[in-house]
Amino acid sequence: MSDASESPLAIALTALPGVGPGRAAQLERLGLRVIGDLFLHRPRRYEDRQRLASLADLEKGAPAQVTGEIVAHGVKRFARGRKSVYEFILDTGAGRLHCRWWNAPYLEDKFHTGDQMAVYGKVTSLRPPTIDHPDTETITSGEEGKDEASIHLNRIVPIYPLTEGLPQRWLRVLVWQALNRLGDKVGEPHPEIAIPDLPSRENAIRMLHFPEVMEDADIARQRLALDEFIELQLNIQGRRRKLESKARPIPCSGDNRLIKPFMANLGFQLTDAQNAVLREIRGDMIADTPMRRLLQGDVGSGKTVVAAATALMALESGYDVALMAPTEILAEQHFTNFKCWFEPLGIAVHLRTGARKTDADKEQNALELEGQNAAPETPCLTLGTHALIEDGFVAERLGLAIIDEQHKFGVGQREKLLRKGDYPHLLVMTATPIPRTLGLTLYGDLDISTIEQAPLGRGSVRTFARTPDRLPKVWQFIRDKIAEGRQAYIVYPRVEETDNSSLKAVTREFKRIQKELAPHQVGLLHGRLKSEAKEAVMSDFRENRIQALLATTVIEVGVDVPNATIMLIENAEQFGLAQLHQLRGRIGRGGDEAFCILVGETRTEEAKQRLKVMVETNDGFRIAEFDLAQRGPGELTGRDQSGEAPFRFGDLRTDARLVVQARQLVKEHLNQSE
Ligand code: ADP
Ligand code: MG
Repeated sequence: MSDASESPLAIALTALPGVGPGRAAQLERLGLRVIGDLFLHRPRRYEDRQRLASLADLEKGAPAQVTGEIVAHGVKRFARGRKSVYEFILDTGAGRLHCRWWNAPYLEDKFHTGDQMAVYGKVTSLRPPTIDHPDTETITSGEEGKDEASIHLNRIVPIYPLTEGLPQRWLRVLVWQALNRLGDKVGEPHPEIAIPDLPSRENAIRMLHFPEVMEDADIARQRLALDEFIELQLNIQGRRRKLESKARPIPCSGDNRLIKPFMANLGFQLTDAQNAVLREIRGDMIADTPMRRLLQGDVGSGKTVVAAATALMALESGYDVALMAPTEILAEQHFTNFKCWFEPLGIAVHLRTGARKTDADKEQNALELEGQNAAPETPCLTLGTHALIEDGFVAERLGLAIIDEQHKFGVGQREKLLRKGDYPHLLVMTATPIPRTLGLTLYGDLDISTIEQAPLGRGSVRTFARTPDRLPKVWQFIRDKIAEGRQAYIVYPRVEETDNSSLKAVTREFKRIQKELAPHQVGLLHGRLKSEAKEAVMSDFRENRIQALLATTVIEVGVDVPNATIMLIENAEQFGLAQLHQLRGRIGRGGDEAFCILVGETRTEEAKQRLKVMVETNDGFRIAEFDLAQRGPGELTGRDQSGEAPFRFGDLRTDARLVVQARQLVKEHLNQSE
């Protein structure tokens, strides 16, 4: 596979006998262009035709595989109605099986008396033995049927995903012939990586298509899944090594002259979990290679203080620090906090966002013109949005880059920030709890620290799920709580904030909510607002000049207003679980009890289950595990990899062991080749 263009696996399928333009087009629709594609075309299931069910063994409701000859067939139409049933009767040698299709009269032309058939399906009835809507395959005899015994019968046969017009048997023969001719050209993708306990890739591919026993199919799948995980690990770990090879040690042992007063003035003690993470970070900051660490902790677990203490380690050692956040609101909020923490320590804090950078540049220029030239000597902290990775921002003495809410940024953006400095220490923080397998997969290039315990004295959040007809009661509840002095978030599920129609919808919603909550004040926050307007709304909310904030998901990350203890999420079924959990993390930040009300339609069982999980637990990891089990990794993998799962054979839900194995194999391999 190393040199695809030379490999026989890169030969177009049209080179195989019997594949003309028509068939090639059909194969193409399945994504099959070259031999290698065909080899990896995964059967959707297998049929064990070694053990054909005898009619006496059939069980109602259980799937069965039966062969026989069509002895009678025809369409029965029902009186008056347009409904009909097509039926054929199969003589199996030991009795008769009825196969029925509802409303498919055209099948009468497809089957003929005398055809030899293999059928597969769930047994609908035993008297007489009947299967409705079975999968069928005509077994041919004579010249054309000479492969029958070896390919289609008396063995476990693959059943492939098909496309319109492509017969199962034809595809099976194609795979069989391709394997015979070119199977031995498969080879190992990475011969230098020895794979214990699993078959060679060639054997795995043979077993995938024509397993001798059912277990072989899964063993084959495991080998091919492992290959996928190895590919991914090579990519991620290779990237990391490349970064490391460019990085020089950045000793940040510090002298505690800033951290000590910082801790003393904080107003609270760090939790054990925060301290433990800081010890790990301290270890990284004095090591020979720069830190590459992911800090994960549920919303409200107190990651910001850890980031601040880490920043001080670098600042004490004479380095600049940059902290990048995904939204202006969050950057502003960090700016407020860090100024309050750092300025008393004599550390300058700058803000750089899309809106603010010109100001900052002007200020900087003004300072330099005045001859104060503050920048080069005194290390400083620059906070900002992705504006930090644009060309205008230069950070020559950058010793540490921190990325907040990492899941909002891609790997490319992360590396861009690193290249701003001379490959500085990197701390990325995320509140999206990642199940272990996924963490190893997505962040195989990072060491992972987890804050498992939230700061003490944290109010608990109670969550309720309600259908829309209960809204009047919900509004009453919110009015009562506001009257008691609390504040509320009302979340509206429009994410496409670049589009005008959704902006209109949000504005309409705003009017409605103003009415519901009058005489209390309601503010509106969405992504299209200018930053000054955003800032103004946020500070009104923070100062309780407005009691309720109607917001789109711009508040999803990091916003911290302790008095806001109510959250209403309408159309909750439209949000992903990770997102709901993030949103809910905005409340319950003070000591008081908080309430999250999810209003949504729960017409499907899936929707019901999802809201139920939210009601039952506040544990982000449990929610993430549930989400992974229910929906696969799409949502969790975030913006970069969203959409389809990247694996054809691997399944992150069940393949933890293989993921770990791949990570280890690649690590050993890269160590050896260094
Ligand atoms: P997140 O992990 O979601 O970013 P934050 O860092 O915003 O959480 O912390 C949430 C709140 O908890 C903040 O108001 C912060 O000041 C407070 N906090 C953090 N650590 C502690 C602690 N050890 N004790 C008490 N409060 C804390
Ligand atoms: Mg945060």
